[in-house]
Amino acid sequence: MVVVGAGPVGLTAALLLARRGLEVLVLERHRTPYLLPRAVHLDDEVFRLLQDAGVADDLAPRTRPLEGLRLLDAGRRVLAEFRRDATAGSNGWPQGALVHQPDLEEVLGAAVARTPRIDLCRGAEVTGLVQDGAGVTVSVRDRDGGADRSVQAAAVLGCDGANSTVRELIGARMRDLGPADRWLVLDVRSPVPLPLWPGVHQVCDPRRAATFMPVTGDRYRWEFRLAPGEAAADLTSTAALRALMTPVDPAALEIVRAAEYTFRAQVADRWRAGRVLLAGDAAHLTPPFVGQGLGLGLRDVHQLSWKLAAVLSGEADEGLLDSYRAEREPHARALIRLALLLGRLMTGGGRSASVLRRGVLAVVRRIPAVARLATDSRTPPLRGPLVDRRGRAGRRLAGTLVPQPWVTVDGARCRLDDVLGDGKATLTADLVVRRADGREVQVEDPSGVLRPWMHGADAVDVRPDRIVRSAR
Ligand SMILES: Cc1cc2nc3c(=O)[nH]c(=O)nc-3n(C[C@H](O)[C@H](O)[C@H](O)COP(=O)(O)OP(=O)(O)OC[C@H]3O[C@@H](n4cnc5c(N)ncnc54)[C@H](O)[C@@H]3O)c2cc1C
Repeated sequence: MVVVGAGPVGLTAALLLARRGLEVLVLERHRTPYLLPRAVHLDDEVFRLLQDAGVADDLAPRTRPLEGLRLLDAGRRVLAEFRRDATAGSNGWPQGALVHQPDLEEVLGAAVARTPRIDLCRGAEVTGLVQDGAGVTVSVRDRDGGADRSVQAAAVLGCDGANSTVRELIGARMRDLGPADRWLVLDVRSPVPLPLWPGVHQVCDPRRAATFMPVTGDRYRWEFRLAPGEAAADLTSTAALRALMTPVDPAALEIVRAAEYTFRAQVADRWRAGRVLLAGDAAHLTPPFVGQGLGLGLRDVHQLSWKLAAVLSGEADEGLLDSYRAEREPHARALIRLALLLGRLMTGGGRSASVLRRGVLAVVRRIPAVARLATDSRTPPLRGPLVDRRGRAGRRLAGTLVPQPWVTVDGARCRLDDVLGDGKATLTADLVVRRADGREVQVEDPSGVLRPWMHGADAVDVRPDRIVRSAR
């Protein structure tokens, strides 16, 4: 199996596929990892899937729990505050975590290096794909001037980012869901801790929308929306930054990077051609307002890893791969639309600006998806052919994640997912876990969350990605 791209999505895909027994070749065009920060937020659903990839415990000490979201007015006065549970939530991890993306990529890279089933080949650019009955032939250009070569793969996963070559090679195109938006992204380090609340600050000023937050350690992020015709360089003089960042003095900071980014809201019109599939930024792009760009891609490969493993081992029919887009695209679209809506509400001019003046809190509470996101990190349930919403409990639970409390098994404390194992599993009302490998494990749940969560079902069937398939 070939994964194209060693960004966070490609590396996570490789780990998850290898864990399911596949041999994985990762082809990455750059010789060294990308060291500049991009994503800064991961939610607890995503942290939980990083647990499945075997990296969450290594990553956790390098993150900072997110306290929540503060909406500020142009004078930096707090309009509203939404707190997140910084201790473990229902997924067993803090509801939000701030992270320096290169730290995540370093932890993933170290895990890849110690996994014998994964071969990571850097300086290798994918330039062509040809499919036939035997699989996919991948053309690879050596970026160091060596000979071009071709590689034979049972399947190819394109995790090659926003300008994906794999997307182009399968004839897919990005479709806009909303307007593009230009921002100045400023990453800084401070020799002394800055007196900032440990959460995300959103400045709801239609004249100059801004976001800022402490990331981890001495790292901080500021983002400013650029006006039409304005260049990033117009804002990066010390005097301009002093006005924008007040009361923080930019002269006392090390500017790590000041770059213009165009945030897009786009989804690919094809996610699969035969045995070639797209995941991560190659399949979708979102504005940053709900911090889900990377999270969406990691969810893609968490789901795809068990489906690909089932198809490639012959356990499931190739048609299972059709359910990948059917399940992931509506979820991705819902979060992209939410990011667009939140962006308009928090930073837009005109009517939404006057609504803000009337009371942000009231607005946010009126819109259920926004209210849920502001107070709770759950993302929309999955819908599609592989979740069965029949029955009272089925309607409530199918498509959602089973909670992950700490449980005890024979007196030993462990996380529920470690008991569920890598395959599908059934949890009964007596708290017996029936695993795909035939083992039955009695768990005790000191937290007391599992039984009430089952809503009277006798048994809940859980997929390998911890999504409830059905409840009976
Ligand atoms: C300023 C900014 C802030 C962000 N904030 C957040 C946030 O808070 N939360 C969040 O979840 N997301 C955020 N994101 C989005 C997040 O960074 C991306 O979604 C994420 O990096 C995408 O990962 P990826 O692995 O899909 O793609 P990438 O990280 O782009 O990796 C793609 C890899 O593929 C390689 N490649 C490309 N073409 C080829 C080829 N032909 N052959 C071989 N290799 C190839 C590239 O070199 C690259 O290494 C932010 C993005 C930006 C820019």
